Amino acid sequence: MSDSPEKDPAHSDVMRLDREVGVGGELGRRVGEWSATWHRVIADMGATDTDDLDVLISARDEALKQTDPHEKLIPRDDNGSPTFRAQYAAHWLMAENHHHTHPNFQQLIPTGPHGMRPHFDRLDAIVDKLIAERKAERFPYHLDEAQLPQAPQNMPPSLERGGVEHAMFLMNTCYYMRGGIKSVAAFRSLSALYEQQPDLFDAHRAQSMSPDFVQGHLAAFGLNYKSAEVSKSWIENSRRMVETYDGDPRKIFRGDIDYDELLSRIRNQDGRGFIGFQKKMASMLSYYLMSDGLVPYRDYPLPVDFHVLRVSAANGIVTFDRPAENGNILSDDVLDMLREMYRDYSVTHNVSQLDVCDAVWSLSAAVCGKQPGNIWLEPDKANGRSGRSTLIHPLKIDLNDPRQQRMYRDSCGLCPLEETCQTNYPSKPYYVAGEMRGSPRIRFPKDTLF
Ligand code: SF4
Repeated sequence: MSDSPEKDPAHSDVMRLDREVGVGGELGRRVGEWSATWHRVIADMGATDTDDLDVLISARDEALKQTDPHEKLIPRDDNGSPTFRAQYAAHWLMAENHHHTHPNFQQLIPTGPHGMRPHFDRLDAIVDKLIAERKAERFPYHLDEAQLPQAPQNMPPSLERGGVEHAMFLMNTCYYMRGGIKSVAAFRSLSALYEQQPDLFDAHRAQSMSPDFVQGHLAAFGLNYKSAEVSKSWIENSRRMVETYDGDPRKIFRGDIDYDELLSRIRNQDGRGFIGFQKKMASMLSYYLMSDGLVPYRDYPLPVDFHVLRVSAANGIVTFDRPAENGNILSDDVLDMLREMYRDYSVTHNVSQLDVCDAVWSLSAAVCGKQPGNIWLEPDKANGRSGRSTLIHPLKIDLNDPRQQRMYRDSCGLCPLEETCQTNYPSKPYYVAGEMRGSPRIRFPKDTLF
């Protein structure tokens, strides 16, 4: 017979899960059962003193079979694995409750250099809201600025849609999805380049071009960002595309492959894949090809870029116990975590990841950069940038400045996330220094706005 709920350890586990990572209710209870079984299985295996991660994980999998033999209680993804949030919550409980005997449980909790922590309840609330607002075409989704980079008006007018040319064009846009240039601007410049030099986008032809020729064309269309590096990758990746996929990126996706296989085909590793393509670019390419209907939809994790990270961190979908002294929270770990979290939302809510990604991305791309707290100045702009030493500084906030009041009114003042958004994440430090620097978001009093 169990104690009252308040004294029941299982009940307190579920309460803590809910409070700390936002996994509550029925799922929290089931995860609590899974982790209690996991602990019992470790004891049954005579492994109470072990810290061998392989043993702990095999105990976890056995405990899952015992807790959910018909795979109906713990939600699963397309591969039949527990969803990211269920797995994260089970790991979190074990690490919290048993770190003295099994310190290695901590390794199952990715925290990255800045002590990150997911909040699944906020993820659900915020994405639910943004998807509803976008569906209803309310602010900011009706604005031109909320257009996606691959919107028809940003694509080359003469590009034939639905075939290999279309897929190769999208593959080549990925070189410019790593900062340095805004996505919409990159699409427009590449479109203009395509209209003048379509052969550059034909892998069979591009593989034999010289780096100087490619770089010269990129630079002529304003695509100077890392153009020496990009031009070399462009040529070598065209060669690899021809060698392995007959010049057609759609063939990378042949065979209804899972995410691990997709990564092994795209990632530049051990002589396979494409130069400059790691997890983010694999997600970017699958997003563009799925979004334009060139390959079938599958629940591959979708790209997390500056905009998705900005909305997520500003609204506490992920929080940080140890941001850097200058507020920087950027790391590969947080991008990985958010990719998994948004995929989890899609799986658990039966919503396409394309819709999730578009709703979150467009909000930031359309309006966050207009609010005064996200504006940084670059006094020597006319002289060009000098990498990380480029001089930049934040706009001084003045609540009484009518211009700033208008800027705030037309951005945060209308934003569906105004109440939950806590932090500024300006784009300039990201594009200049590769840093995601957070600072408290200052709210302009409502009575000054209208
Ligand atoms: S409140 Fe402002 S900064 Fe925050 S998400 Fe909305 S527009 Fe962006």
